Amino acid sequence: MVGSKGVVRRAVIPHEAAHTARLLEVVTEPQPEKSAHIQSDSYFDFIVVPQGILGYVWDFPAIERGRPVRVRGIYDSNVRTVKKDLTLRAALADEFERHGLELDDYKLESHPFRWFEARSAFSAPRLLLVGDAAGVDALFGEGISLALGYGGLAAAEIRDAFAINDFSFRDYHTRILHSALGKALRRRT
Ligand SMILES: Cc1cc2nc3c(=O)[nH]c(=O)nc-3n(C[C@H](O)[C@H](O)[C@H](O)COP(=O)(O)OP(=O)(O)OC[C@H]3O[C@@H](n4cnc5c(N)ncnc54)[C@H](O)[C@@H]3O)c2cc1C
Repeated sequence: MVGSKGVVRRAVIPHEAAHTARLLEVVTEPQPEKSAHIQSDSYFDFIVVPQGILGYVWDFPAIERGRPVRVRGIYDSNVRTVKKDLTLRAALADEFERHGLELDDYKLESHPFRWFEARSAFSAPRLLLVGDAAGVDALFGEGISLALGYGGLAAAEIRDAFAINDFSFRDYHTRILHSALGKALRRRT
């Protein structure tokens, strides 16, 4: 439970290899006059991969407090150790420059997250990990739909535990790996 930086996972699994991706996100005003991007379209661009950033930059439209904005960012899965020519921030600054924007003019949000690793532990007696705390999509950094998917698996596990009055949750790992969610996550890692 409780997110990628939560203490619960660290409390039950204190010594494990880090499987951590990173992303930076920025919300900007739409600037059609500066960017070559069509402002009603969403863009995912893997242009940063040759620079050792194992992910993509994105730029898509959204609504924030009733006004149109562009949500932009950069994602590095870090699934392999490769030489990086640029920091994540520098690569995003370059991308902003390509679209006539100055990264320093905006508030940057940063977020680490744990990607799915099939050999990880997902439970301890009386405790189930879900969502970011369990591990999410390494390929695209998607977490919301997977958090919801984990919810269903955890609910089924809890239902079965009540039925046999055994809260060891020892089969949760197998349940995840055999589920459509587990198979998809494994492929994406
Ligand atoms: C800036 C940003 C942009 C993102 N964009 C996307 C996106 O476009 N698409 C996408 O799919 N995913 C995106 N994500 C990832 C997505 O938000 C997460 O994968 C998803 O929210 C994970 O859900 P969760 O329930 O596992 O964890 P969380 O949403 O982190 O929920 C954990 C909750 O537990 C609470 N908590 C923590 N510790 C305790 C405690 N000790 N006791 C009680 N409660 C506690 C926290 O306050 C929090 O409410 C983004 C994340 C960030 C930060």
